[in-house]
Amino acid sequence: MKQKIKKHFYNAKDAFLYLVLPRVCVCCFEDLGFKYKDPLCPSCYDNLEFMPDLICNRCGVYLPSGGSHCHRCRGSKEKEYKCSTIRSAFMYNKAGRSLILAFKYNMDLSLKDFLSENLISTFYKYSEIKDADIIIPIPLQSAKKRHRGFNQSEVLANLLSSYTCKPMLTDVLVKHKKTKTQAFLNREQRIKNVKEAFKCIGADKIKGKNILLIDDVATTASTLESCAVELKKNGAKKVYGLTLARE
Ligand SMILES: [Zn+2]
Ligand SMILES: [Zn+2]
Repeated sequence: MKQKIKKHFYNAKDAFLYLVLPRVCVCCFEDLGFKYKDPLCPSCYDNLEFMPDLICNRCGVYLPSGGSHCHRCRGSKEKEYKCSTIRSAFMYNKAGRSLILAFKYNMDLSLKDFLSENLISTFYKYSEIKDADIIIPIPLQSAKKRHRGFNQSEVLANLLSSYTCKPMLTDVLVKHKKTKTQAFLNREQRIKNVKEAFKCIGADKIKGKNILLIDDVATTASTLESCAVELKKNGAKKVYGLTLARE
């Protein structure tokens, strides 16, 4: 009986919240039904493109014509300082971008469960990243974190850490250089922008360990690669990248 009353109370509370704050699709802004739980309406959800099987073995970029590696990863001499493997949940198309922007800039924390579920299933999908010992979210500069109120990668990494029982460390890597927003830069500018932007302050914690870096999106993957350089220089064995979206 008690349970039944409790359930009715929560239903009434949800209905009231829905009246005050009706939910809309984060992509097309169509109203979503009261009981509809996903953040995308059915047609935008259909447009969310999960990563196909044809991807570069190392950087995870989509290879529409197949093959094992993209032209940048094939025979790259700098490979030893890069991420060994980068994997992502979905493509950075309109639906994928809308989800990430709503989470990151509109601070829609109600998206965290939907997004972290996708991140967790992607982690288990790829056996090549399963032997990670430690999870590290890409850090934000402290001023940016204060302004935004949270680090979106840390929120996701924390949920992944709880689910996989792999420790998340936020006191190993810091962002010590002010950088421009990557979205407005071309490939070369992005690489230059984040070069030496991160500093390892906890080398003793990562010596000989495999690290899984978490970020929301990989475009040129220059942020992940810049962190990998710093972590490997400080003794990390392998560095992997896992992101929600891949461009
Ligand atoms: Zn929609
Ligand atoms: Zn590649």
